[in-house]
Amino acid sequence: MTRQFFVGGNFKLNPTSREAKRELVNILNKATLNPQTEVVIAPPALYLIPVLELLRKDIKVAAQNSHTKNSGAFTGEISPVQLVDAGIPYVILGHSERRTLFGETSVIVAQKTRAALDAGLRVILCVGETLAEREAGSTQKVVEEQLRAVVTLLSPGDWSRIVIAYEPVWAIGTGKVATAAQAQEVHADTRKYLTSAVSPEVAESTRIIYGGSVTAANSKELATQPDVDGFLVGGASLKPEFVDIINATA
Ligand code: PEP
Repeated sequence: MTRQFFVGGNFKLNPTSREAKRELVNILNKATLNPQTEVVIAPPALYLIPVLELLRKDIKVAAQNSHTKNSGAFTGEISPVQLVDAGIPYVILGHSERRTLFGETSVIVAQKTRAALDAGLRVILCVGETLAEREAGSTQKVVEEQLRAVVTLLSPGDWSRIVIAYEPVWAIGTGKVATAAQAQEVHADTRKYLTSAVSPEVAESTRIIYGGSVTAANSKELATQPDVDGFLVGGASLKPEFVDIINATA
């Protein structure tokens, strides 16, 4: 089975003006993009709706977070049903910045994933190890623990709406990219884990994308790996080179 290549742009808490946001959208609107690649951008929550309105329709929009509950006394949160109501199809969950800076455990990430799917969203689910965990040889154990929490709350049919983003923490925003071989190894092991934990069909069809200092320069080699089904891009998604990353397989 062929898995559609997927490139996500995570703008994080950028940019800081409506004008800059418009410029980023304009670059994408004018670009020639590989029609075979699914492209999703995740602007800050405040800009989700204006981006949706300005952006060409073959690029999708994602939120960077959503809550476990759909409504109630949860000041500052955005709910999955509100995102669906606003026409947003995707949400990024479990990003390492959410895990480390905002105390999101794997259980919380799994609950958020369940709630997002129940509301009708698709989820870009981030997992990945720290440098200390990699050096201790626990990369796969960490990735599987993070996934296990989600696996227990999902049924096999849910996985068609999940994209797994393998994002080694040591590579995020550091300029230190995983080698193509390192990424391929974790992606292949993760697919093996899905085979036994969920099903061979889910393992074969679920997209596993790589994130961590992806640039136009390194994206082509990473994209040649059989189990690398795309990228989640932070810093470079704010630059014109994002277009070259989207077209890495062209
Ligand atoms: C990210 O935040 O998901 C990410 C991969 O960031 P960067 O590309 O800047 O390393």
